[in-house]
Amino acid sequence: LIELDRAHLIHPVSSYRGHEKLGVRVLRSAKGATVTEASGHQLVDGFAGLWCVNAGYGHESIVEAAARQMRELPYATGYFDLGCEAAIRLAAELADRAPGDLNHIYFTLGGSDAVDSTVRFIRYYWHAKGKPERDQFISIEQGYHGSSTVGAGLTALPGFHAGFGVPFDWQHKIPSPYPYRNPVGTNADAIIAASIRDLKSKIEAIGAERVAAFYAEPIQGSGGVIVPPKGWIKAIRDLCSQYDILFIADEVITGFGRTGPLFACSQDEIVPDFMTTAKGLTSGYVPMGAVFMSDRVYNVIADAAGNTAVGHGYTYSAHPVSAAVGLEVLKLYEGGLLENGVKAGARLMAGLESLRDHPLVGDVRGRGMLAAVELVVDKIKKTPLPSAAMPARRIFDRAWENGLVIRAFSHGVLGYAPPLCCTDDDIDAILERTRKTLDQTLE
Ligand code: PMP
Repeated sequence: LIELDRAHLIHPVSSYRGHEKLGVRVLRSAKGATVTEASGHQLVDGFAGLWCVNAGYGHESIVEAAARQMRELPYATGYFDLGCEAAIRLAAELADRAPGDLNHIYFTLGGSDAVDSTVRFIRYYWHAKGKPERDQFISIEQGYHGSSTVGAGLTALPGFHAGFGVPFDWQHKIPSPYPYRNPVGTNADAIIAASIRDLKSKIEAIGAERVAAFYAEPIQGSGGVIVPPKGWIKAIRDLCSQYDILFIADEVITGFGRTGPLFACSQDEIVPDFMTTAKGLTSGYVPMGAVFMSDRVYNVIADAAGNTAVGHGYTYSAHPVSAAVGLEVLKLYEGGLLENGVKAGARLMAGLESLRDHPLVGDVRGRGMLAAVELVVDKIKKTPLPSAAMPARRIFDRAWENGLVIRAFSHGVLGYAPPLCCTDDDIDAILERTRKTLDQTLE
């Protein structure tokens, strides 16, 4: 498999860049929060795949829901006002639980095309309002909004830009609120004030009448699990409203129980104009994303009869099997998984907090089952790990050998996003194996 992989499979992002290539690690099976390699080596998946298997592995009821749908009706297009029961019911269930007036659901295949779809809808919205000049978009440094050409441009991680000709000149960024490394310090009010200043001056530099929309993750995921101070997102959302700029909450990671409730926006007490979701929507069993659109936007892009004639869609928009899985996963979340996630998240955060005494640990942060430990070589100066001597990849490999899957970000941040089904033993294993890995890294 390693040879075949080397010869033929292109991996989305290889963490071997600049390191010796060891070969692919092949997983064979999984149950609950445990994954098993082809060799038989078992690991606790502290990252739920790629922050997506929120319900955990091996749920027979999800398999059954997919199989039933495949037998009855494996495919139905959503184009041309056709459809299937599962997609209609899932849209209704999601709208019912969404914050505020996010009552209209557009299904995609994942997060990147959910973000792309919002850009399409937003351009269409401003055209329909007679303001096509509102064509400039703002997002945040360290933000991640997908890997499509448009999404990679909204993303602000250098690896997704170099060599790709993005971002486009209509895609702008403001600094991340990053409390641990913010030039204004760690005080929440100061951080919020700085972001407001940054956004205002960006809007004014572009021209307030030119800005179409602003994108934010409630917690920045791929940038290193950066948790903004409480009240930050509300202050930013309110500023956007003042300028009539659409506000998009990208909940691809934070949605579906990752931070506790179904949506982080409800914790932050905001209602965005759009919300993008994917990952936990189907818990990674099948691909699907969902764009949530507010009444306010929908009423502009729909015609008087309530038809949305927007020329935008995918063959697999509102796929019946994905929708059937989405409905089943939603039942599981509400049948105890969200509750378990809150309990397990509290145990995880308390355990990670207790790592603060470790010589390599500079910061611990997170919310619910989404957390990070930032490693430094000097706690006072917050000096990042030297990536040449202590590459993130090596920490990842050590954790793997210790039976733990984590994410090791290139700037020395360890990311955690375990399945919500984790037992106390799973969480304790994550914590013990983390400490062991850190101790080995010190040696
Ligand atoms: N937005 C956010 C916030 C994400 O974290 C991701 C994926 N990590 C995406 C968009 C893109 O989702 P996908 O990989 O499913 O296309």
